[in-house]
Amino acid sequence: MVSDVLAGADPDASDSPPVLELHGELEEFSRAAPLDVTLRLAREIVTDPTYPTVRAWTRSGRSAVGCFPVYTPQELLHSIGLLPVALHGGGENVEISHADAALGSFLCSISKSTLELALTARLAPFRGFVFPYICDVSRNLEGIFARVLPETPTYMLHLPQNFRSGATVRFLVSEYRRLAERLERAGARPYAPGPLAASIELFNAQRSRIAELAARRRAHPGQISLAESYLLRRLGGLLPREIHVPLLDRVLAELSERPVRSRDAIRVALVGPFCEQPSLDLIDLLEQVGCEVVDDELLPLYGWYGRIDPSGDPLEALARAYVESPVDIGVRAAPSTKGGAILDRVEAANAQGVIFLTAKFCEPALEDIVLYRKALDRERIPYLHLEFEERSTSYEQARLQLETFVESILFD
Ligand code: SF4
Repeated sequence: MVSDVLAGADPDASDSPPVLELHGELEEFSRAAPLDVTLRLAREIVTDPTYPTVRAWTRSGRSAVGCFPVYTPQELLHSIGLLPVALHGGGENVEISHADAALGSFLCSISKSTLELALTARLAPFRGFVFPYICDVSRNLEGIFARVLPETPTYMLHLPQNFRSGATVRFLVSEYRRLAERLERAGARPYAPGPLAASIELFNAQRSRIAELAARRRAHPGQISLAESYLLRRLGGLLPREIHVPLLDRVLAELSERPVRSRDAIRVALVGPFCEQPSLDLIDLLEQVGCEVVDDELLPLYGWYGRIDPSGDPLEALARAYVESPVDIGVRAAPSTKGGAILDRVEAANAQGVIFLTAKFCEPALEDIVLYRKALDRERIPYLHLEFEERSTSYEQARLQLETFVESILFD
């Protein structure tokens, strides 16, 4: 039984890296610092499975809620007094020694490492968890969390799949109301439209800065590396947004002064890592071999929609933004739209090829590739498919495949 696994778990699991302690108000990110200093700290935080930012922020009694990928209405959580925190598994630093007993072998790493974090008390600073129903794995994980952490509220968020029905927005509004009520057990205030309108504006500001970062990468890929832009985005799901927005303003100002490096490289779209995230080493490798990633599915939450106008009913505006979003990834949209979506993205990014980077055993990502490949074959757009796992450490084979792919386009 899962509860037996919990009984055998060791909260002082020894595979964690040294624990990083941050200031309670996260001054490390709210005061001005050179970008390379911020990025070094971000790298430490992102690879620390004990959530140093959350431990620091909740030390004074504030509440944080963990949100499994790919989409949770973070604006709503923020408006009821919670810090929404993006959960992205354990990365390369978590040894799976308890979760294997509860989950089968042929499952993605993020499901196992997220459960491992729960079983080893590394998610203790969280007061609740939200699991969007994106696949069977996420659905089952929510059920397991409810059993292994019975004192901590969990919520299975049912996101709509039919975007054409007149009832879709209404359904999502009622789903959001239920989520807010459920989270009162996690320390949330009751829902009210005024605070939600203010939170929507804060998240509008965060998305606009991240969109600006993406636009700069697309126009001048040599100005900021993929890993740097990824780390800044990851921080966006870990820090209070009141701290992250001014941080991004400082970063954008500093980037304007940075010289743009140019090099022989191909422009590629990166498709597939919308849920489980590749390691920083693998992200670095893409650029080392000569790929300029000008469009990517990493952390799709920040590109879900543009500005939301909260001036009417803000809860309906939030639900409508989700439903009307053009995001077309493995866990959203009808199969019939996939071919057109990939071609549009390649064209918009002026990409020369596509790299499919999918988490091992991620069925939603793998199913889509069949449809994507048909469209790309038709248009003779080159592509390469690689799989990854969180704890992969050797990328020699991936390097070889990537180098061959890059050369085949560069010297075509
Ligand atoms: S990586 Fe894929 S299979 Fe695993 S939880 Fe995410 S969407 Fe589901």
